[in-house]
Amino acid sequence: MTDQPEEANGADAHAVSVAALDEVAAATETASLDAIRARYLGRGDGLLTVFRKRIGTIADPEARRAMGQMVNALVERVTDAIEERRATLSATADGDGAADAIDLTWPPPPLRRGHLHPVSRVFRDVRRIFAQLGYMAVSGPEVEYDRYNFTLVNMPPGHPSRDTQDTFFVDNDRVLRTHTSPVQVRSMIIRGAPQRVIVPGKAYRRDYDATHFPMFFQVEGMCIDSGIALSDLKGTLEFFARSVFGVDRAIRLRPHHFEFTEPSIELDVSCAVCGGEGCKLCKGSGWLEILGGGMIHPNVLRNGNVDPTRFSGFAFGMGVERIAMLAYGIEDGRLLYDNDVRFVRQR
Ligand SMILES: [Zn+2]
Repeated sequence: MTDQPEEANGADAHAVSVAALDEVAAATETASLDAIRARYLGRGDGLLTVFRKRIGTIADPEARRAMGQMVNALVERVTDAIEERRATLSATADGDGAADAIDLTWPPPPLRRGHLHPVSRVFRDVRRIFAQLGYMAVSGPEVEYDRYNFTLVNMPPGHPSRDTQDTFFVDNDRVLRTHTSPVQVRSMIIRGAPQRVIVPGKAYRRDYDATHFPMFFQVEGMCIDSGIALSDLKGTLEFFARSVFGVDRAIRLRPHHFEFTEPSIELDVSCAVCGGEGCKLCKGSGWLEILGGGMIHPNVLRNGNVDPTRFSGFAFGMGVERIAMLAYGIEDGRLLYDNDVRFVRQR
């Protein structure tokens, strides 16, 4: 150790101090600074300390003094660097190091809470409103037999009204149901009369524009009992429309035509976007059709094994997207399914 050349001692000391400074700069916790200090500046065998001990072995007084000044300067520089680094780490961490650098007094980032999609919300509202009137929610298959989707609801093969349904065909016998009406007959066969049911579910048509979607939600409703009249339907739909849109929104019933009801009506609500002035959504009329319905056709009752001479009933079907558009003033219903977060995050 003591027989090393003096020149090498000076260069080595410098190299060791450079390594020490690199480690200090890379340190992320005060604990590692303590370790660096012990390794390089430790009293007995610190990697820089040993150079100090060698100073006394240098014979030439000039060289000894120069070496002494150099090693002292290097020790001072490493010591200063350690203390500077320690101050920086304490200032940023206020604790035991950057790994634990969590300031509990900082306000938390805003928490983004999820919420229901407008269609889900309307869907739930509709179910709740009809539950208040004693309606039970039932379901049926989405891949439906042609017979249930069309024939049993008074649209026999070859009937022109089948053309208006824009049907997705699955095979010769089955379709993606174009409406929830087939569940009317299914429910009659299962539950007989009297009964009150709603059928919330999906339906499918080959259609896509601002108010029509290839997959959409419908709620079908049906009430069968003895002595049910059109006035019962009117009262039920008025209760529903006022529950959803509020008492100040205008409502009107219009005569219409459906194959499975006779007489048939449509229920309109005044347009939410233009307030009745006329706009793109309401096609300038100021009114939006929200549902269709009527008195169940005697043929349909018979197809469900219900005796039309003893029982009568009404049925209606509504598009949930339409109601969501009206309730929230959405002009293009495609926004409901585009999953644009700027739209979906709105409440
Ligand atoms: Zn309008």
